[in-house]
Amino acid sequence: MKSSKIEFCTDSWNPVTGCLYDCPYCYAKSIAHRYGGHKTLEYYMALERPIDTSVFRVLETPVLNELNRQKESYPFLFAPTYERYRHDEFDRAARKAPGNVFVCCMGDLFGSWIESWVIEEVFERVLGAKKHNYLFLTKNPSRYDELTFLPGGIRPDNMYFGATIDSQGMAKSILEKQIERLNFLCIEPILTAVDLGEFLDYSPGKIEWVILGAENGNRKGKVVPKTAWLQHVSTVCKSRGIPLFMKRGHTPAGKLSLLEKALGVDFRQEYPASLAKNALA
Ligand code: SF4
Repeated sequence: MKSSKIEFCTDSWNPVTGCLYDCPYCYAKSIAHRYGGHKTLEYYMALERPIDTSVFRVLETPVLNELNRQKESYPFLFAPTYERYRHDEFDRAARKAPGNVFVCCMGDLFGSWIESWVIEEVFERVLGAKKHNYLFLTKNPSRYDELTFLPGGIRPDNMYFGATIDSQGMAKSILEKQIERLNFLCIEPILTAVDLGEFLDYSPGKIEWVILGAENGNRKGKVVPKTAWLQHVSTVCKSRGIPLFMKRGHTPAGKLSLLEKALGVDFRQEYPASLAKNALA
């Protein structure tokens, strides 16, 4: 667990990295490819060898760079990997002041390729450090049914389960049937107009928080959201009393982000009361 630059949390912990969804805008994947891979002699001698993403790897110890003996980050790039040794890192770092910990921001812990025992072990760890809040996000919230792993099948108040959506189509396919499984939504990056109204009204009070962000980076085909899309999400959340956290993304300090420019005085970074107490840890 370490301090995070992600604006809506204080820390992140990545026992599982990698993801097979292959979203074209994936920032985590670009980080893994920029800083990861076997930077070892073996790697340099076998650069052509593709990394097999069909294998789910479990690392009991870190992969060390053969030259400097430092831990490799993302040794298998973005191929799904359970870095089990990070449980010990978590236990040491969990002594920090209470914070909001984003679990697995560098992958999808609930992807269909993740074996259930892995999720169970991750839950065991966070259940042992109750002073923090834990945020989970996935594009596959059907697996939140496996929360029966939790004692009594009950979700503790400090664990928040969210879904990431990027478009109205994804909102419909996930929220129409699965909103009951969720505590919060992350619309990032917003790629189309998204109308949450009807879904929120299926289940009033169920969604406690919405996060909204635009695409970062300069990829070819990058979607720049229309102001009207952002305003609509803002209006829908406000009318239902749902806190909305708008991301500044990678905008340097002192400069206005895309969302700030588009929304002016409506730009806001709100938390539900239960997360606000740990937001500045
Ligand atoms: S679901 Fe998330 S982690 Fe997976 S590829 Fe898409 S953006 Fe990346």
